[in-house]
Amino acid sequence: MKIKILGCYGGQLLGFHLTSFLVNDTILLDAGSPTEALTLEEQEKVNHIFLSHTHLDHIKDIAFLADNRSLKRMGNKNTSNSITIHSLQVNLDTLKEHFLNDHIWPDFTMIPSKDNPTLSLHSIEPEKTVEADGLKITAIEVNHPVPCTGFLLDQGDAQFLYSADTGATDRIWEIANAQPNLQGIIIDCSFTNAYQRLADVSGHLTPKSMANELRKLDKYGEIPIYLYHMKPETLNIIQAEVVAEDIPHLRMLTQVDELLF
Ligand SMILES: [Zn+2]
Ligand SMILES: [Zn+2]
Repeated sequence: MKIKILGCYGGQLLGFHLTSFLVNDTILLDAGSPTEALTLEEQEKVNHIFLSHTHLDHIKDIAFLADNRSLKRMGNKNTSNSITIHSLQVNLDTLKEHFLNDHIWPDFTMIPSKDNPTLSLHSIEPEKTVEADGLKITAIEVNHPVPCTGFLLDQGDAQFLYSADTGATDRIWEIANAQPNLQGIIIDCSFTNAYQRLADVSGHLTPKSMANELRKLDKYGEIPIYLYHMKPETLNIIQAEVVAEDIPHLRMLTQVDELLF
């Protein structure tokens, strides 16, 4: 399993991309930045987007990815595939109603035609595993103000977990603890400890509450932990507070990272 970090920040600034991870060149976990971070040739390889939730920082580049893809499909429909967006039905409904609604952006589930769309929507259910390009992927509900799921990736001999945006939660750690060979975790760490109340009400973690979550893991201290969704303007403070928690095998993701399992 190869996970390329396209964007890993909870805010957009020059040089800091919003959340998106590219798995095995063809699967995106969230779509905050793929058109900023991938060449057109790399974008063409994307077959699937697994969408944790519909906050703008996770869906923004669905718009531009579809736009780039549609031109080629209109030119010759055999040269590129449609992109399937997998998410909870409630999230797909929100996308259609509020984003791909022909007001904010064209409805690329109908372009170039309903039978041959640029984007296909596929409803998934929590804890029901689906398969995409040889990888087993399971959505797990987490704690955020809108419906949101993390994702467990399973390639058979190894598993990897992405928490998505979340505050304190339990179910995802129970599932993590049930995996035979969990190899790593990407977890929310958005705010500095001074903003704990904001983190709690907005469904995010601080270094302190992130550390509390990790203590629910049986493999605490044994597997790599990667932080994402840091607010870039307070990155240095978050970094210092994370170091103070003294958690083994933990580091903040950066955009040049490529994780291999
Ligand atoms: Zn969010
Ligand atoms: Zn977010």
